[in-house]
Amino acid sequence: MNQSSSLQSTHRGPIVAVDSPDYDETRKLYNAMIDKRPALIARCADVADVISAVKFAHQNSLTVAVRGGGHNGGGLGSVDDGLMIDLSLMRGVRVDPMSRTALVAGGARFGDVDHATHAFGLAVPSGIISTTGVGGLTLGGGLGYLTRKYGLTIDNLLSVDMVLADGSFVIANADNNTDLFWAVRGGGGNFGIVTSFTFRLHPVSTVVAGPTLWQLEDAAEVLKFYREFMVNAPEDLYGFFAFLTVPNVAPFPQELWLKKVAAVVWCYLGSPQEAEKLLAPFRKIGKMALYGVQPLPYPAMQSMFDIFYPPGHQWYWRADFVKEINDKAVELHVKNANKLPTPNCTMHLYPIDGAASRVPSNETAWAYRDAKWAEVIVGVDPNPSNAKVIKDWTVSYWEDLHPYSMGAAYVNFMMDEGAERIRATYRENYPRLAEVKKRYDPENFFHVNQNIKPTT
Ligand SMILES: Cc1cc2nc3c(=O)[nH]c(=O)nc-3n(C[C@H](O)[C@H](O)[C@H](O)COP(=O)(O)OP(=O)(O)OC[C@H]3O[C@@H](n4cnc5c(N)ncnc54)[C@H](O)[C@@H]3O)c2cc1C
Repeated sequence: MNQSSSLQSTHRGPIVAVDSPDYDETRKLYNAMIDKRPALIARCADVADVISAVKFAHQNSLTVAVRGGGHNGGGLGSVDDGLMIDLSLMRGVRVDPMSRTALVAGGARFGDVDHATHAFGLAVPSGIISTTGVGGLTLGGGLGYLTRKYGLTIDNLLSVDMVLADGSFVIANADNNTDLFWAVRGGGGNFGIVTSFTFRLHPVSTVVAGPTLWQLEDAAEVLKFYREFMVNAPEDLYGFFAFLTVPNVAPFPQELWLKKVAAVVWCYLGSPQEAEKLLAPFRKIGKMALYGVQPLPYPAMQSMFDIFYPPGHQWYWRADFVKEINDKAVELHVKNANKLPTPNCTMHLYPIDGAASRVPSNETAWAYRDAKWAEVIVGVDPNPSNAKVIKDWTVSYWEDLHPYSMGAAYVNFMMDEGAERIRATYRENYPRLAEVKKRYDPENFFHVNQNIKPTT
């Protein structure tokens, strides 16, 4: 029996081998810049499949990569010549409206979660693109429109079901395997495969949301106003700052098509009138080119940008945490915004204050609770021949701004950047993470990730 048939004999989901007709389609990652060729892909249908895949990898000395939503910038959901344990068929979501919780399968995407919870007028804080996997985003932290009001995604995580490196199954939460539960809240996929997440939900249904845009000549003034405004704004209001190129499609006004602009993308948990009042000072800055803030169902806001960022584009990004944006940093931001090389490239500053900042830095593995923003510079383009151009722009922009950052980045916005960058992400939490790693994965079986080594 070959390896594929042998694994298939204990597995409900399909096993995809190099010679399977759907191999190339199945192995694709969101970031088309990364092209990995696993020896086998175990598409898991349930927890039993995950256990059998882990045991099979041990028996056959295969390196394992775990794919949730496949969005990881560095392509950490796949591996050359190893076993990809693919969770993307495990996407069920069960909402309990009485306890306001959701049980979410390990391969779900946030679009699945938003769809299921919205029916009950509830939501869990997550990211801004609905196709992102719950697995990778949650285990790395989780930033999005509800961060200021309800915290990071991990601050709303109540429990995980996990398959560990030896194939055993555990539950980790506030009462069981508490060290593991501490580590998975920010420590990524280092400790095992999460087969389901239980989240706390919040009453969020219709939001008042959308972008405000300015031509680049007003960008410095907007960013200077925004940096003071945002950190003092009520927590019902969230706005991430961006540089972008206006898409040449309706509903954007034609005179803005393909213009480079400064933007703030808002999401307010209140009435349109209150939002209008809160945002009124922004109307006085320069000449606002677009006020696109309007009532929207929360899932519509969560998926607003999906159309501009489909799978299969080239991606290269660099990031840092930021505590303050001084005048020199503003100047450098505007300089680099003027050089946005192709229309999908962008820069975002995601707020991390409010509820997220009230959780002590050692309460979860996520160590940068004192940062005010996660900055991410994103080179994106559909055309592989632009890969170098977008990468060069990203690196040069990042090098300009890095001296004005806190010196480390959000782990989910990192490429393959080496051990020192990973250690910096976790600050004083790193030694404890290494201890937990040693306890649960002493052989570093799960190392295709932003790797925490089982040694201090
Ligand atoms: C378009 C886009 C938008 C984004 N927006 C946001 C945002 O708004 N906020 C934010 O915080 N982040 C955002 N991100 C970053 C995102 O959080 C990371 O890319 C994350 O790694 C994606 O998770 P995934 O499950 O889709 O990725 P994958 O590539 O499948 O996995 C990423 C890593 O997580 C591990 N992993 C995944 N699932 C599991 C699991 N169930 N158990 C154990 N390990 C697992 C994998 O092994 C791998 O190491 C965005 C990314 C993209 C590409």
